[in-house]
Amino acid sequence: MFKQVLELLYSWLSTLGSPTIVHDEITAYNHFYLLQIDQPMLQSEMIKTEFHCHTTYSNDSTVNLQDLVIACENKHIQKLVVTDHNTISGAIQAQKLDPHRFIIGEEILTQQGELLGIFIKEEIPQGLSALKTIELLRSQEAFISVSHPFDPFRAGHWEMTDILDIVSSIDAIEVFNSRCFVPRFNTRAREFSHHNKLLGTVGSDAHSIIEIGKATLTLPNFDDTPSLKYALTMAQPHVRLSGLWVHFYSRYAYWRKRTTSVVL
Ligand SMILES: [Zn+2]
Repeated sequence: MFKQVLELLYSWLSTLGSPTIVHDEITAYNHFYLLQIDQPMLQSEMIKTEFHCHTTYSNDSTVNLQDLVIACENKHIQKLVVTDHNTISGAIQAQKLDPHRFIIGEEILTQQGELLGIFIKEEIPQGLSALKTIELLRSQEAFISVSHPFDPFRAGHWEMTDILDIVSSIDAIEVFNSRCFVPRFNTRAREFSHHNKLLGTVGSDAHSIIEIGKATLTLPNFDDTPSLKYALTMAQPHVRLSGLWVHFYSRYAYWRKRTTSVVL
């Protein structure tokens, strides 16, 4: 127990002041995958994209939509996938504010673990089996990734046997999540994606404004699932960990929303 506490403390301290880094190995398989597909090179602009972000429509986030627009402008994020917990209400409102920047996504809690859906047309309820959830996502041509699959400190983490059951039905694994405060959880996700020849996404998993942009991909512009798959083959990740303290921040947000009627 003492050793685990020391490891957590060390991992957290090691993230303080860490510079933004580029991990070529994060999307190593993405680049390999490029060699396997037969498509002409897209003559497309490269855009900085955030794939995992929560708004006040999640019960543990303090990010309101107006501040989100400003943060994206300040951090030069051209596209952002809004992935609230089990709802697309915030993403729909965000898209009304800025249709070209915001993409409707959802982080869905299934019976086995959490899934990230991108390009959602109809909200998927939580609590279904992973396979049923994937079936509903496929029926609306959504892109499917798995958020922080091997972080045991998250409620929606995956058991290996369960994730192996869906590995042939998903598009990607989130190979870097800024809220994983033990780096080896991201390493395991990266190794799993490489071993199973899956594309990799990254995400800040922002629940507060200062977390937005901690993990982004710069990739060719895209507007649907097929073009996103292709764009990911040329993605360059820019990632950094957020540190342990952000979890206390979102717990505070959760507590404050439960004890007051204030919309943060
Ligand atoms: Zn999340």
